[in-house]
Amino acid sequence: MSIAENLSRIEERMAEAAIRSGRAPGSVKLVGVTKTVDLDRIKDAVSAGLQILGENYVQEARDKIRELKDRVSWHFVGRLQTNKAKYAVKLFDVIQTVDSLKLAQELNRRAQPLGRTIPIIIQVNLASEVSKGGVEPSECLSLIRHVSVLENLQIRGLMTMPPFFHQPERARPYFAQLREMSQKIAEAQVAGVEMNELSMGMSGDFEAAIEEGATLIRVGTAIFGERP
Ligand SMILES: *Cc1c(COP(=O)(O)O)cnc(C)c1O
Repeated sequence: MSIAENLSRIEERMAEAAIRSGRAPGSVKLVGVTKTVDLDRIKDAVSAGLQILGENYVQEARDKIRELKDRVSWHFVGRLQTNKAKYAVKLFDVIQTVDSLKLAQELNRRAQPLGRTIPIIIQVNLASEVSKGGVEPSECLSLIRHVSVLENLQIRGLMTMPPFFHQPERARPYFAQLREMSQKIAEAQVAGVEMNELSMGMSGDFEAAIEEGATLIRVGTAIFGERP
């Protein structure tokens, strides 16, 4: 199947999952994750209507962003090292993987001279996996309170990457848990903090994620095929 066909099939499945759970199909946005994908295939996807791209590595993203910059919006979805913060704030529209005060402070410091307020999403490590980024659930609200005072960042919601399962239903409890966390944080009414975005669900489990409230799904393989 072509990239355009993959995309239209995913969009159908997104709409069906939204409707099943009583949500408006337009309430879920697709982030096409383009790590290892070459520019020509990314351009095919953009021509077919993909509007948001996600990249995991600053270096890899740089050339792609230069080529496509204004046609799409770019989300950083990888692990961000503090020493790359200065590039990330120049290149990306949204940073989905903020998980420490140190990183947030560096992003804030680097965004300031650019006159930008960067929309960010706080990544949560729900299963405390050492291989993954993300703040511990018990520390999430405290991190958000500290980050909320940084003037050049704006918290928009939560992101997670649950443990990998072959059956998507096994990821569902994690998606529900992230939604519940976001509701609790919204109730805490931290000044300047929005909890409008829930970034969860990938190629294998995005329908379950949408049914549990995802507003951003991050999909690579199902659009572009297997990665090398
Ligand atoms: C690679 C990646 C994805 C996409 O994974 P697929 O299974 O290929 O859809 C989503 N989110 C993050 C953070 C990733 O690194």
